[in-house]
Amino acid sequence: MIEATRTDITALLRPHLRALPGYIPGASPAGSADAIRLDWNESPFPPSPKAQVALAEFATGNRYPDILQTALREALGTYLGAPPKRIMAGAGLDDVLNTLAMLVIEPGDDVVISDPTFGVYRSLFSHLGATVINVPLLAGPEFELDDDGILDAIGPRTKLVIICNPNNPTGTLFPRGKVERIVEGATCLVAIDEAYAEFSDTAHLDLAETHEHVVVLRTMSKFAGLAGFRVGYGVFPDALMPWLWQVAPPFLNISAVAVAVALASLDDLPALESNVAAIVRWREELAQNLARIDGVTVYPSATNFLLARLPVSDAAPVVAALASKNVFVRHFANPALGLRDCLRVSVGTPEENAIFLEGLRGVLGTMISEKAR
Ligand code: PMP
Repeated sequence: MIEATRTDITALLRPHLRALPGYIPGASPAGSADAIRLDWNESPFPPSPKAQVALAEFATGNRYPDILQTALREALGTYLGAPPKRIMAGAGLDDVLNTLAMLVIEPGDDVVISDPTFGVYRSLFSHLGATVINVPLLAGPEFELDDDGILDAIGPRTKLVIICNPNNPTGTLFPRGKVERIVEGATCLVAIDEAYAEFSDTAHLDLAETHEHVVVLRTMSKFAGLAGFRVGYGVFPDALMPWLWQVAPPFLNISAVAVAVALASLDDLPALESNVAAIVRWREELAQNLARIDGVTVYPSATNFLLARLPVSDAAPVVAALASKNVFVRHFANPALGLRDCLRVSVGTPEENAIFLEGLRGVLGTMISEKAR
């Protein structure tokens, strides 16, 4: 047999990939049961009681899921008050974002984002060869969306503006008026990522009903505690639906068991609503306790996490010291984001939050007294 001579296989990579920084997710040890995981904005609650029954009873893993996800799209439609024909689900909102990108993004297109925001946008769209135009949030006592800047940034090559509202990682709920202004003025698609909507008492779905160019994106990872099952969805313009079905992966990448668990969760809304109410209560308690620590500033949050600015120039050693105590929170090292002195902490159970607070007080106390020495 003749052995083919092959060049370095990495030469096959799309060239522009090499120039990209990529998305570096947080790093809590997924397998470790005793780790206090407050770094991924997960729910501290397990899936709802009915979801757990559906999981225990699930027995048809030998069968493919419904290729049209009819039951899931109907249940999501009822939950949202939106027509199921405009809903498409995916294996997490990440997957739905991929499908949206597949639909519209070509190399050379522009996508407008507002950092600091969800890091996946930048990596996804730049992987596809788009130019990501950043119109940064205006920093102040609260982060503000620069609606004028976003409208100015939209040009002939802009396919998409993404607004994350409430925003990750700042927790900010941007005023409805600013979002409306962007929607009214934009000549391209506007996607509103509402991954945390259930914690915020707001929704932008009506904007998708009244405007042909608005997409609303949601997930069951956060409020429903299904992060591990991967169920996200979007409400898309009618005119895009046939094309979405064309580019979406067969079976929409959602496993049959995830569909069963999602359906049971949507049939268990009072349980989920009470979880959300508890998380919001615990968030406010955690915010107050954080703000009591000398030099710590906590930003208002409409999500299941908090962003806190610490009295240090770089929070990396604080986050590392917490990790050594088995408490995992998120740090944003990229100086361009302006959050190096911040940490982001998911709202855990009251016990977890207390351990985190005690750890943080200890770590900051040691650092500050060492500096004073
Ligand atoms: N959008 C935002 C703003 C998020 O924070 C996240 C998850 N951290 C996602 C989308 C992705 O969610 P999912 O788990 O559904 O993929």
